[in-house]
This record gives sequence, C-alpha cells and structure tokens, in this order.
Amino acid sequence: RFAKIEAGAPIEVFALIKAFNEDTFPQKVNLSVGAYRTEESKPWVLPVVRKVEEQLAKDYTLNKEYLPVLGLPSFASAATAMLLGANSPAIVSGNAVGVQTLSGTGSLRVAAEFLARTLGYSVVYSSDPTWENHKLVFLNAGFQEYRSYRYWDEKTKGLDIDGMLQDLQAAPENSVIILHACAHNPTGVDPKKEQWEQIAKVVKEKNLFPLFDSAYQGFASGDLDNDAWAVRYFVEQNFELLCCQSFAKNFGLYNERIGNLTIVSSDKDALTRALSQITLLIRGMYSNPPNHGARVVATALNNPDLFDEWKGCIRTMADRIRLMRSGLKERLVALGTPGNWDHVTNQIGMFSYTGLSAQQAEYLRSQYHIYLLRSGRINICGLTTSNLDYVANAIHDAVSR
Ligand code: PMP
Repeated sequence: RFAKIEAGAPIEVFALIKAFNEDTFPQKVNLSVGAYRTEESKPWVLPVVRKVEEQLAKDYTLNKEYLPVLGLPSFASAATAMLLGANSPAIVSGNAVGVQTLSGTGSLRVAAEFLARTLGYSVVYSSDPTWENHKLVFLNAGFQEYRSYRYWDEKTKGLDIDGMLQDLQAAPENSVIILHACAHNPTGVDPKKEQWEQIAKVVKEKNLFPLFDSAYQGFASGDLDNDAWAVRYFVEQNFELLCCQSFAKNFGLYNERIGNLTIVSSDKDALTRALSQITLLIRGMYSNPPNHGARVVATALNNPDLFDEWKGCIRTMADRIRLMRSGLKERLVALGTPGNWDHVTNQIGMFSYTGLSAQQAEYLRSQYHIYLLRSGRINICGLTTSNLDYVANAIHDAVSR
C-alpha cells in the first residue's frame, strides 16, 4: 500500500527556510520567509497581543467549550466591520456577514468549497504570478480548471493592466476571479484606484465572480481603510462577493490560524441559506474553529483603547518595511547597480518582486548566503539596518556580472 506512494514535490519556501536554518555562515540573510521580522531579525509578538493574552489567562469566566461551527460571533462581526467599515450599508442592512475560518488559507478553502459545491462554479482565475497556494486550494476544493490572468509586467516592473483586462474580457462567464485586496503577493504591485474601476467594470460586464484575498489589511500601508479600498469599492458597486481575511500578518498570529470569510449578498434571505450551506461544509471539514486567536482579535478590535494600540503596532510594521525599501533602493542607486530600482519603493507590503533572475537568486545564495525565491521575490522584512549594505552590495555584484 504505502510502498507505491510517489514523493510529492517539495514546497520551495519551506525548503529554503530549512536550508537557511542549517547554514552556519554568520552573515546569512533570510529574504524568503513569509513573516514579519524586527530590526533585530526576530519574530514579533505584538505588545497588544501579549496584553490581551495576559487578560484572557486571568479571566476564569472563560472555558474550553466548543465554538459554534461558524466561529466566535464577536470575532466574525468585528472582522467584517474592519474590512467593510463599521458603518457599511451592507453590514447595517444585514447583507454582509462573517464566518470565522482557519486563517486566510482556511477561508480560501471554505470559499472555494462553497463556490464549487454549493454554487457549481468550475473555473477559477488568479493573477500571474500569485501566491502559489491558490491553485492547490481551489483544485483540491473541487474546481475543474485553474487559469491565470496577466498581471506582472516584466518591462515596467509594474502592473500589466491592459493584459489583465484583456484576459478578464476573454474569461468564460461565471468564472471566479481571485483578486488580491492589497499588497499583492508576490509582486507588491497593486492596481491604482482608476484601474480597480476598470477591473470592476469588466468583472460586471462579463458576469464574473469576484473573490478577494485580503491577507495584509493594515499591514500594507499602516492604514486599515486605505488597504480595504478595493473591496469597499466593489461592495459599493453592488457586487455579490466573498473576501478571505487573514489575521496572520496584521496581528502577528501566524500559528493561531485565525481568519474570516466575509460574504456579501444582495439578498438577505439568500445569505441565510448560504450560511446554512457553509455550516454543513465546515461541519464536514473540521466541525468548528479554534478559540484562542479569535478571542485575542475580538478583544482588541472591540475595545477602543486596545484597537488604537493595535493600529500603532501595524504602523510600526508598515513603517519599518517602507524604511527598508528606501534603504535598499538608495544603496543600489548609489552603487550604480545596472537597471532602474524605483519599483522597490513603488511596490507595497512585505514582498518585492525584485526582477532578479533564478540564476541571480542562486548566485546570491551560493556566494553570499542570501536566501530568496527563484522568482526573485524577497521579503523586505528580512532586511535590517545592519545587513542592508551587505545585501545591496551582493545584489550589485549579482546584477553586474
Ligand atoms: N493569501 C495570500 C495572498 C497570502 O500571502 C497568504 C499568506 N502567505 C495567505 C493568503 C494565507 O495565509 P494564512 O493562511 O497564513 O493566513
């Protein structure tokens, strides 16, 4: 039985992290990890999270009973309000609700199961490139076909809006279109507001189904409303849509697996029926979600002082990322590294698609112990004031050869 199993392909990002951990070179730099790092290259437990955890630990009214299938209500409603804005007409009218999920990935999986099994969708599109897990999640959830729309323009190191619009135009009706709400992973390139308007127009004309993946709200620009602009614009345009939220990055709760699926419907009764179907899908997958992360996030979002404290934390992270972006660009320009490096500061969020080739990435690893994906994607959080010169000089060498 087991003897005939073929080995699955390794997952590049985890393989790189393993290689990095085994590397004994003192100046090694990890630019591949998908998480925030402090100026000291350390993971960061947000002080507001520590504070809430201390409160929760002392609260003996709490217990370990199961949560409902759809999660902790005070969490899901706060998460949906954070996404759409507390006064969103969709929320006030009861046309938008949240469902607690197992982080962003679990939200995508529930969304995909719902779209495939309950609504019968079979074709899904995501950007080229995208977060590499979209394909696996959607195909495993029952989608028949996974396709890409053009997104990254190699020449401008920006968005190929014409290619994207053409590909959406050519998509069969009722295709599901995955859109990154902000801080596109891996490129760091987001559409501008006018471009979002063009995208919405085609999605409407072609009767496509918009699914937003929101893994970086607040973390991207430091401003929650700004990072939710695209989703809110689509809601204002009366789209029915799904949005998958992750609290891994913006709360630093990576391993607590805390996420939310926001469902926006144009019909309240239909929404109630949709929730009854989602209840069955979740019941059959994992029955009910974990409590801890949901309790932490709900406590922070529902208390004005803690909420402000958390907003300070996301600004700290966003500011450090911006500082490292400008630090890297300044150094590359000062060194006269061939090419234009404006994209390093034009892109937003944790990731930068540097334009470095797979060979250059390999060279950086073998010669300098700098770890990045073959696609040239780097995590800006891997940079610190003390390694910027080292990394910039290494990139200069790799590009100038
Ligand atoms: N979507 C995107 C675009 C992401 O970058 C990530 C995290 N890498 C996720 C979803 C999901 O992350 P998680 O399951 O850890 O919340």
